[in-house]
Amino acid sequence: MPIQNPLKKGSRDPYVTIAQQQLIALGYGLPRFGADGELGDETLFAYGTFLVSQGLRAPTDERPKSITPAGTAALDKAFAALAQGGSTANIIDERHNHPHSGRSVSMPYRPWPKITAVVLHQTATKIGEKPASWHGVPIHFGITRAGKIIQLYDLTEVCNHANGLNRPSVGIEIDGWYAGIEGRPETLWQPKNLSTPRQPMNFPTAQAEAAMTIVQWIVNAVAANGGRVTHIHPHRQSSKDRQSDPGSLIWQTVGLWAQNTLGLSDGGAAFTVGNGRTIPEAWDARYTGNRY
Ligand SMILES: [Zn+2]
Repeated sequence: MPIQNPLKKGSRDPYVTIAQQQLIALGYGLPRFGADGELGDETLFAYGTFLVSQGLRAPTDERPKSITPAGTAALDKAFAALAQGGSTANIIDERHNHPHSGRSVSMPYRPWPKITAVVLHQTATKIGEKPASWHGVPIHFGITRAGKIIQLYDLTEVCNHANGLNRPSVGIEIDGWYAGIEGRPETLWQPKNLSTPRQPMNFPTAQAEAAMTIVQWIVNAVAANGGRVTHIHPHRQSSKDRQSDPGSLIWQTVGLWAQNTLGLSDGGAAFTVGNGRTIPEAWDARYTGNRY
């Protein structure tokens, strides 16, 4: 998403958040303030370091004074390249190690051309790094916090992961506890009767990269088999009970990336399936007035 005019220090443009998320994903840490949407010294320092690494700036200790359109184009390009290290995703194949009890009864299988979407989820729990711990999860892919990609079902199997979006979609579960809206811990889903409330987790770079890699891989795999993936959705769009699924951080990092880079669509501001909820403005600044 390139910008038209330079963003000066102190800016609070929606693009600042995107640039911050891209910098973090690319390894230019923002340890103090994170992706807070404000263009401060920490972000400008990381951005300057990025420009030097790209040969777009002579090495210097001085921070840039603004983020420029050329700089954002370079960020977009580097960020897109993260997930396009080829379609050879490093997948841990667990498809033959469990009984596939999460398959749809009414429509267990589908032909490749019926696969048109990807749905992103957060687990809202901690499943962990052991592949066997994922066997009961009714979904095609699990992404661990360390960035392992675990495949549980064939793409041509229909799994019970996303209510009314099950039939056209491939599902990805991203392990962890994510706030519905970053910076608002009260939007983290909490199980009942916990003595100490959970605190939202961050989105580790390795896990974000793995999620982007598998989205690209799914798009390529479906295309190679005569279909075309055209959409990406948050689970929230197909279930009112999944308000925070997958949350703004995952959606902005992976969902918006897939729209900007792979040309996928989220269905638009009013799109829902069944009793789902629209994508809120807090997740996507285009959708002014859509409530969380
Ligand atoms: Zn979900």
